[in-house]
Amino acid sequence: MTSTTGKSLWDWRKWAVKLAIEHHIDRYEVDWLLQRVANLEPLTLRLESIGENELVDLTMALQGLSTLWLARVNDRTPIQYLLGTTTWRDFELVVSPAVLIPRPETELIIDIASERTSPTRNDIWFDLGTGSGAIAIGLAKALPNTSIYAIDLSLEALAIAKANAIRLGVQNRITFEQGNWLSSSLFAPFRQRVAAIVSNPPYIPSSDVLELQPEVVNHEPHLALDGGLDGLNSIRELVDTGAEYLEHGGMLLMEMMLGQGDAVVDLLLKQGCYEQIEVIKDLAGIDRFVIAWRI
Ligand code: GLN
Repeated sequence: MTSTTGKSLWDWRKWAVKLAIEHHIDRYEVDWLLQRVANLEPLTLRLESIGENELVDLTMALQGLSTLWLARVNDRTPIQYLLGTTTWRDFELVVSPAVLIPRPETELIIDIASERTSPTRNDIWFDLGTGSGAIAIGLAKALPNTSIYAIDLSLEALAIAKANAIRLGVQNRITFEQGNWLSSSLFAPFRQRVAAIVSNPPYIPSSDVLELQPEVVNHEPHLALDGGLDGLNSIRELVDTGAEYLEHGGMLLMEMMLGQGDAVVDLLLKQGCYEQIEVIKDLAGIDRFVIAWRI
């Protein structure tokens, strides 16, 4: 813990905002950083309601903050990786470049899952490609009766997901396993027994991944983004996995990207094991999720 005066805080903020504007970075990120490091309310920052001579406590000295901010603007490193945390729904998650930074549009997947199911005790749920553990943890908090399994191919991601579950006190609700989806024989006992599979898989076509903004393409794990030639490789795999592992009446709920709705519905229909297939929009009105029920 260190402290600084209101004046140096506002001077720092002015400098950082100017750099942000010059580099076409959302100036709000400066306040996002200050909220965390100085534990200030957004309104305090917006109104600059700390006097020049008042002292403000900081978890990091302004000099350290400047180093972070220069990395943000010069290397285009996402601010969440620089700070090592992000906020998702109503909790804070540790993140590193081993995991995708959970996106706000994905937050809704937890509400969809909990509104559309009424889990009974010990229902088995899978979060496939858990990354930071965001979805598994969100489900654990929203659905107290379920037994959740969080799977990822990346051991580094699993370590972060586990650490997040421990920090948030839900480690007893989630079993973490490494796996390439559910292809390992380890999961054979779950065939036809799973109540729900929820996933935010990689779904961006390979050629589009390289066109993404530098924050994403240069810093986020391509394993979590790249969905192959047409973006649908992982979704195809999940459609088959659901057919094999879901129980009768089980739910498959996946995230996808703008423009994929028709193709994903088609895959589900062709698979032949699903009914009540529906595309659901995110809060921006974009087709973002698909839900289907195992016949
Ligand atoms: N929505 C993420 C992005 O915009 C992609 C996540 C994914 O491929 N599952 O980068």
